Amino acid sequence: MKKIILSVVILCFYEKIFCWGFYMHRKINYYAVFLLPPEMMVLYKPNIAFLSEHAVDPDKRRYVVSAEGAHHYIDIDRYGKYPFSELPRNWNEAVVKFSKDTLQTYGIGPWWIQTMLQRLTNAFREKDQAKILHLSAEIGHYIADAHVPLHTCLNHNGQLSGQQGIHAFWESRIPELFAEKEWDFFIGKAQYLSHPADFIWKRVLESAAAADTVLRYEKELSSSFAEDKKFSIQIKGATIARQYSEAYAAAYNKRLNNMIERRMRQSIYAVASFWFTAWVNAGQPDLKNLRHQNFTESELKEFETLDSLWKIGSAQTYECE
Ligand SMILES: [Zn+2]
Repeated sequence: MKKIILSVVILCFYEKIFCWGFYMHRKINYYAVFLLPPEMMVLYKPNIAFLSEHAVDPDKRRYVVSAEGAHHYIDIDRYGKYPFSELPRNWNEAVVKFSKDTLQTYGIGPWWIQTMLQRLTNAFREKDQAKILHLSAEIGHYIADAHVPLHTCLNHNGQLSGQQGIHAFWESRIPELFAEKEWDFFIGKAQYLSHPADFIWKRVLESAAAADTVLRYEKELSSSFAEDKKFSIQIKGATIARQYSEAYAAAYNKRLNNMIERRMRQSIYAVASFWFTAWVNAGQPDLKNLRHQNFTESELKEFETLDSLWKIGSAQTYECE
């Protein structure tokens, strides 16, 4: 009887266990701050906790606003084969060719990042501190998502190849195990991006080119690992979770030849460079003297509401990306 109950609990948590959450997004925004020039550091460093914490707001919003999901990915293999030249990189041309609905359905990540860059640039022009920080935190999220191979293909959680759970395995479980202990985040300096749209499309194409490797290597590895070595059981308070074992994660990470570390480093560099580009395009305003330095009561209330709606939403659904 005990055995039956245990396996039911494990089954119930099977999907959820891979949603370890937001580790990677928080770290990417955190480390990006250290690539900034001193003129920006005066604002970003004292607010590093906010930038890290709110890196995950866009994912929380996915539980609240249905249109939010499309900002986080682009299933670019919907548009033919690499380099997907069928798909116009220009938004208006893409809408004419495929319709807004289709674009929305298969994800609009790279265009949304450009919208966010414009918003952030405007916030710098308006010298609006609260807006700058909030938009910086959020654009960091979308840029990081564009660096994840499984955010650029239809088979985004291995659901088409019997590899469900691979998404969070790649983007959460492995970074959580190895990032702090083994990975190097000394990256250098943010660069000004003269063509941010080209830059982000290039990164998306890199992700798309890597997606096949991400899936194939896990499939191959999986067949050489016994099921009981592939997973481990973790008890966290009242929760029993089955998760990919450390040995399996280490083997996969090795097989990927540190791809995840590289993509994380590139994300950090990209996030800092987008922040820097927005600031330069806004005319490099003095960040020591900004207006709207504190969030208003109603803005703070909005953060709280988002957080509680996410908690309710995430408890009701096992969706996780
Ligand atoms: Zn996301």
